[in-house]
Amino acid sequence: MNFDLIVRGGHVLDPGQGLDGDLEIGVRNGRIAALQHELVSEGPPPRIVDASGALVVPGLIDIHAHVYTGVSPLTVPADEVCSPAGVTTIVSAGDAGAHTIEGFRQLIVNQSRTRVLCFLHISSIGLASFPVGESLVEGLLDVGAAEAAIARFPEFIVGIKVRQGGAGVTGSNGLEPLRRAAQVKDLTGLPVMVHITDSDAPIEDLLSFLNQGDIVTHCFTGSDHGLRERNGISNAALAARKRGVLFDVGHGAGSFDFGVAEAAARMGFWPDTISTDLHSISAPTAKSLPSVMSKMLAVGMPLKEVIEATTSRAAKAINRESSIGSLVVGRVADIAVLEKRNGEVQLTDTFGNTRTADRQLMARATIRAGVVWGAPAHPGIGVAVLNQ
Ligand SMILES: [Zn+2]
Repeated sequence: MNFDLIVRGGHVLDPGQGLDGDLEIGVRNGRIAALQHELVSEGPPPRIVDASGALVVPGLIDIHAHVYTGVSPLTVPADEVCSPAGVTTIVSAGDAGAHTIEGFRQLIVNQSRTRVLCFLHISSIGLASFPVGESLVEGLLDVGAAEAAIARFPEFIVGIKVRQGGAGVTGSNGLEPLRRAAQVKDLTGLPVMVHITDSDAPIEDLLSFLNQGDIVTHCFTGSDHGLRERNGISNAALAARKRGVLFDVGHGAGSFDFGVAEAAARMGFWPDTISTDLHSISAPTAKSLPSVMSKMLAVGMPLKEVIEATTSRAAKAINRESSIGSLVVGRVADIAVLEKRNGEVQLTDTFGNTRTADRQLMARATIRAGVVWGAPAHPGIGVAVLNQ
């Protein structure tokens, strides 16, 4: 067989299919064509990506970020933040609501080389009004409009987003935004992702709306009504996990507290998914997905679990496990080459705490649909592959 590209010399770690070994990846026509110990290409020489000394993992999936540039003020451009970070799929968490989702498709989904998916906000204006709360006006919490938008765009809407961020976000509507998001879940089967930072309701009340597959984001926030209870994690959160509720990091600008992450670590309570919540305000502290992954390594989360939480488990959380999150032969070739850089590094959370770590993860190469970022595209790889 001849290949367009070979990822050579790296250590493949793909928890989704239990791979952990020195393997080479052959890519042809934008897809993974072979995965074996040593690959020989016939025909014209392929492009070689040197992964020696590095980890080769499925293209990373960031399930919480903000990328609706031009419409919401709280955004970063998807391709700019993903290409240097090993991220090949980014999920916009509520940037668009039912009234702004068509623009999101045209301006962001269709214009990005990164695969862009989204949680549709229960508020029909999404986060366009930020910093004015998007759920202050009850009439914007439109269940029917959300259901219709999901029916129109099942290819990129993966769930429903709601922020229970206190009076500034929800005004006198209390838990009504979450109640309506849960109604949309009942109608569509898609999971709810709920933001808990600065919630003014007890965590038990929020969790009571959530079931199998729903996602709590900002799980390590140090704000009131978070998961921490005394020196550990609240019983309500443990019970929620038992019934299948997922816990996502969503680092953000005010939602990652080393103290809470360490309390969780002491109980072996690792997040199901690790995400950045990258946006215009959080970018200086959240930095990138590998940076947030490094913070979880620093609190003791095993490397394999960290990779799983950003590949196969992230894919499962957004119901895309049959197409992304694993280096399966035949799938679109989304691949990240990550370096484990040894050496002392100072890591900072969003509550002013710092920790010293002895290693951090950094991306060496990001390959999206078989094309290395920063390199000219191979001929013959077109939009048809990018859109899968
Ligand atoms: Zn967010």
